Amino acid sequence: MKIVIGSLQCEGNSLTPIYTKFEDFDYAVGEAMYEEIYVVDFFKENGCEIVPTIYAHALPGGAVVKEDFLRLANELVDAIPEYGIDGIWLYLHGAMYVEEIGSGDTYLLKMVRDKVGYDIPISVAMDFHADNTDEIVKLANCITGFRTAPHCDHKETQIRAAQMLLTCIERNILPQPQMARANVVICGDAVQTSLEPLKSIMEMAEKFEREVPGMLSVQVFNGQPWIDEPYMGPSIVVTHATDVEVAKQYADILADKFYKVRHDFKFLIEAVEPEEAIRRAMEAEESQVFLSDSGDNTTAGAAGDNAYMINRLQEAGATNVLIAGIADEAACEKCYQANIGDELTIQVGGSLDKNSETATFTGKLIHRGDIVSYTGGNAGPSATLDCGDMTVVVTKNRAAMCRPDIFESIDLDYSPFKIVVVKLGYLFPELAAKAERAILAFTPGSSTERLEDMNMKKIRRPMFPLDDDFK
Ligand SMILES: [Zn+2]
Repeated sequence: MKIVIGSLQCEGNSLTPIYTKFEDFDYAVGEAMYEEIYVVDFFKENGCEIVPTIYAHALPGGAVVKEDFLRLANELVDAIPEYGIDGIWLYLHGAMYVEEIGSGDTYLLKMVRDKVGYDIPISVAMDFHADNTDEIVKLANCITGFRTAPHCDHKETQIRAAQMLLTCIERNILPQPQMARANVVICGDAVQTSLEPLKSIMEMAEKFEREVPGMLSVQVFNGQPWIDEPYMGPSIVVTHATDVEVAKQYADILADKFYKVRHDFKFLIEAVEPEEAIRRAMEAEESQVFLSDSGDNTTAGAAGDNAYMINRLQEAGATNVLIAGIADEAACEKCYQANIGDELTIQVGGSLDKNSETATFTGKLIHRGDIVSYTGGNAGPSATLDCGDMTVVVTKNRAAMCRPDIFESIDLDYSPFKIVVVKLGYLFPELAAKAERAILAFTPGSSTERLEDMNMKKIRRPMFPLDDDFK
């Protein structure tokens, strides 16, 4: 059996004005992509010959530049042989948003079908935050996704999609997945698969998959809420080997269940307005409090250049504060022209997103150096300024200070600070494990945590929580 494999991913955010470019992708071509995925051994053990294409994965961000998307998509499709293949395995995010195109995942699948036709099975593994279009279930034969949020089942998901592909080939079937939508948008930080009300839904899905004869996958997707398109939001995608009626029936059951529990989703951490978050942090008995600037969360695709929290903290007279990251190329450049120990006055903010606030402060330059990226690579230059009551990290590029090793990469010990401000939603597990207390602030920005604040124009309605009691 000859199996084509490929992966192209970037979690999109259509509300941010920044673009995702070719250079923003971690990128591997041909057999170099074997390092990045988990299915190579599985396919080889099952006697398959693998045809690699490309692997490209970027930090969540704004729309992918159309030309850059097409370059990557064409490269993937060009590497697929026109004849002689038995199946195609793709690992996509499901919420890739492309300039002038919309769903990049759908567009890519269409390109693949245009090349190979509809007689070859395609199996797709996706993120739990996929925003599935109506077309996607017609283009793929098998669809599955992560079943954990925060995500820790990348390997199992990839292998499940691979196993489904082999089932299609061995049984000579071309399943047609069925989808049902729940018009309920719940932002990421209130949706964790190990906690209710989602836990019961995930368990129901797994039970159906295990017990219903012929069922290949029963998959719950939460969707990525920061995409203003009619297809945004949760979807249940069910793949049955042969029976589309049965698939649709179970998708409907789970979508109904999702709708019924809509009022039970709650923020799972302390989540309040910014002024209240600052007040609580300043008065906290704990020696340290993390404050999430959730509206400017780079791991949800926001720019990461809003000085909003710097200004609010200064107004409140907060002391012993660490601002763990703000992106500003010009300010970072200015620090690289000075010497360590120099006193500098710099302005930060608003260089990427014109809606971001700016702030000006004076401080002593105490460190310079490259900072580790979200994916473990190099996010480029950074500078740290000690401004007395506040210490500020300025980065040249967008960054996400979401793990301890990222702080360590710039010799920054965050433990002495009373307040640590991060551009995240919920803290990533390794940081959460060390945090005495974490408060999420409902700050403004393109990753705002509340659908009511997103000013969506194109999403389908009715949609909870904007609308309610519509079923
Ligand atoms: Zn995700």
